[in-house]
Amino acid sequence: MTTGRRILLADADAFYVAVARLVDPDGAGKARLLIVGGAPDRRGVVTSASYEARAYGVQSAMPMARAVRLCPGATVVPVPWEACADKGREIAAVLRRFTPAVEQASSDEFYLDLSGTERLYHDEPLAATARRIRDTVLAETTLSLSIGGATSKLVAKLAAGVAKPRPGSPSGGVHVVPPGAEAEFMLRFALADLPFVGPKFQERLARFGLRSVRDVVRHERETLVRWLGEREGEWLYQRVRGHDAAPVEPDREAKSVSRDETFPTDVDDDDALAAKLLVLADRASADLRDGGLVARTVSVKLRDADFITRQASRTLPDPVRSDRAVYAVARQLLARLRRARRVPARLLGVALSQLGAEGAEGQLSLLEREAGGIETERDRTISRVIDEVRGKFGPDALGRGGAQGR
Ligand SMILES: [Mg+2]
Repeated sequence: MTTGRRILLADADAFYVAVARLVDPDGAGKARLLIVGGAPDRRGVVTSASYEARAYGVQSAMPMARAVRLCPGATVVPVPWEACADKGREIAAVLRRFTPAVEQASSDEFYLDLSGTERLYHDEPLAATARRIRDTVLAETTLSLSIGGATSKLVAKLAAGVAKPRPGSPSGGVHVVPPGAEAEFMLRFALADLPFVGPKFQERLARFGLRSVRDVVRHERETLVRWLGEREGEWLYQRVRGHDAAPVEPDREAKSVSRDETFPTDVDDDDALAAKLLVLADRASADLRDGGLVARTVSVKLRDADFITRQASRTLPDPVRSDRAVYAVARQLLARLRRARRVPARLLGVALSQLGAEGAEGQLSLLEREAGGIETERDRTISRVIDEVRGKFGPDALGRGGAQGR
């Protein structure tokens, strides 16, 4: 049974903005109108904006040029990725003191399963526990959270959205949906508000007149299945009622480690692209090693000047973690993508997935080593040395891969 679960979603408020202010108290810290993201020449997109800037219509994922037109007085700063990762880890560490069942769903979103802690917390209502968690995280990290509570991850996430700061109640807070009240709570949402209901699915649903939860709950399960097929019809039937049995997965590893860059101007030269790729591959593999991880799949993403995005991947027989091995594979993938379509590129990315814990990588057989396997012991040693030097002297030490945007 899942009805008795006590699940929270804790979501940091304007996370990237808050961290940008912490790392740059005299600049970003003093700007009321603050936009984080993009490239300095405003070609990139908005990652986040202060609530004051949002009042001008600035939104995440909006092209930076448009955001700056909407809010001309805004200060624009790059995303402080490393500080954000550190702060995310700090928040998670505080949350784990309340329950070991903490799943980091994104850089600033955490699911907590507090089922079974009722006695430990002397039957404290879930909302009261959530408020204590919020106060503790605020006191120890200076970051404020909005927390939603419910019997499922789906409803907890939507409740956290309701708890978010708004004009008029800028401090945000806690919203808990009591057991049994899920279906009623769901009625206020548009289908676009539900996780996994993207623009394409919305379009399909709209063809049947389905735009809101209210539109869907009128229909029988059979009707939805007839319209959408067994899997999606059943999925939607359950979700609009607030049913979602997905567990909080505390041990789930990050699914991928990735780095990408939107170029200030489109890049068409193969050598220039290879140089960018080298930087990205170095950073992604350094992140991988920071996390004590190895990866079996290397992917390269290329967004062409006309916004067509293409991707190529290769899964290796043995996991890798060294700069050289990741770059060697990524370079082949980039060449493949460029052969297929050769137009100026606007964005390049490297992602590492099929992750495992370091030390779990299979021993390369002697044969593979002699045949020049993807990654050799020497590659691993070199990467370890590079990490040590960067650890001592900062990410820019050794030049390669360190200089931009770190
Ligand atoms: Mg957030």
